[in-house]
Amino acid sequence: MRLSRYFLPILKENPKEAEIVSHRLMLRAGMIRQQSQGIYSWLPLGKRVLDKVNAIVRQEQDRAGAVELLMPTLQSAELWQESGRYDAYGKEMLRIKDRQDRPMLYGPTNEEMITDIFRSYVKSYKNLPLNLYHIQLKFRDEIRPRFGTMRSREFLMKDAYSFDLTREGALHSYNKMFVAYLRTFARLGVRAIPMRADTGPIGGNHSHEFIILADTGESEVYSHKSFIEFDIPGENTDFDDVAGLQAIFEKWTSAYAATSEMHDEAAFNAIPEGDRLSARGIEVGHIFYFGTKYSEPMGAKVQGPDGKEHLVHMGSYGIGPTRLVPAIIEASHDENGIIWPASVSPFDAMVITMKAGDEACDRVCGQLYDGLTNAGLDVLYDDTDDRAGTKFATADLIGVPVQLIVGPRSAATGEVEVKDRKTGARETMTVEAALNRLT
Ligand code: ATP
Ligand code: MG
Ligand code: MG
Ligand code: MG
Repeated sequence: MRLSRYFLPILKENPKEAEIVSHRLMLRAGMIRQQSQGIYSWLPLGKRVLDKVNAIVRQEQDRAGAVELLMPTLQSAELWQESGRYDAYGKEMLRIKDRQDRPMLYGPTNEEMITDIFRSYVKSYKNLPLNLYHIQLKFRDEIRPRFGTMRSREFLMKDAYSFDLTREGALHSYNKMFVAYLRTFARLGVRAIPMRADTGPIGGNHSHEFIILADTGESEVYSHKSFIEFDIPGENTDFDDVAGLQAIFEKWTSAYAATSEMHDEAAFNAIPEGDRLSARGIEVGHIFYFGTKYSEPMGAKVQGPDGKEHLVHMGSYGIGPTRLVPAIIEASHDENGIIWPASVSPFDAMVITMKAGDEACDRVCGQLYDGLTNAGLDVLYDDTDDRAGTKFATADLIGVPVQLIVGPRSAATGEVEVKDRKTGARETMTVEAALNRLT
């Protein structure tokens, strides 16, 4: 992609409305634009990052055996009346009437709709376990939308829903998502700690929020420090291995970690003082086992091996991609801008010419661009004739991990300067060496 033909509306000034660094950087880097309170457009650079986040979320859901579908954003109120949540949900739900005066709503979550899909097709335990997910926009009329897409009104959620014949089966399904989440967040370059979370009126101890520690986080959390060292389950994890997944779950829940709603002062104080962590955090995922809460009122039953009908045991599992993007930035930036983890960077590398139109510069930039592109990398080529200072500032702001800087002098000898965005280290090498390093 040539920068001269791209759409990258960089802001020179710090936007006044942005209170936290990720919001400021997303606006300055031309990633998002607010359309009305808490409702955002994702501009091309932001869209690239969001797509990368979604791709990793999707791969790990698929690996854990979940099956993707797509449900609509608009829902009929009827389903919610069936579950009893239409009245209970309150003002966060955006309620709409269609031209026939039928009550509709913009879905804040999809338990009712997925239960309806399930009960329409699945009649036998032989089709279980089943986990269906989608990545779709949600709307919640948040009382205080703020921090850009960190807490917006319209936002993207990956929500998965599991169905099992028994509670034991459902807990294994829960463990699959638990492990998938550990892998997902690690691949996104962040450390999210699973913390015991409130299950609300349903009770039970099976709910975890995945929290990224950050001073700007809205959740108050308490945890043992040891989480920093736990191993992330590998790519070859066998998701059908019940005991194996349970062991991972137990390891990751062996140390104290709870949100303020679930905080147990006495248990926390039993931890040696130096190992206690009382901090703020960002909720990026939430998993939940809730048994027959929806299958019962909505009549989602299957025939069991005993020939009798059984209500299915369900769980739901959310991740917020549009919140993750700013959460990643909160965890990875410096005074010059964003520092993307390679896995979600909008581009893999940036080629920067210091003199557009110079024969040697154009040639070397072309070699780098073609070489990297042919190797399957996404490359942004700053071919503009902006001042050097502007170019460097833009490159650092948008945070692509590697910058390949081509000036007339080095280009004449077929060389390029390779700059690592994170460390700032620069190294001059031949075009060939640079291509070898990156591909
Ligand atoms: P919060 O406590 O931040 O309001 P929640 O507990 O209401 O979030 P869930 O219903 O658990 O959210 O939804 C699953 C995930 O969706 C959350 O973990 C979060 O990543 C994301 N999410 C929820 N609300 C928002 C929002 N307003 N903006 C962006 N992402 C959100
Ligand atoms: Mg909420
Ligand atoms: Mg919450
Ligand atoms: Mg939650």
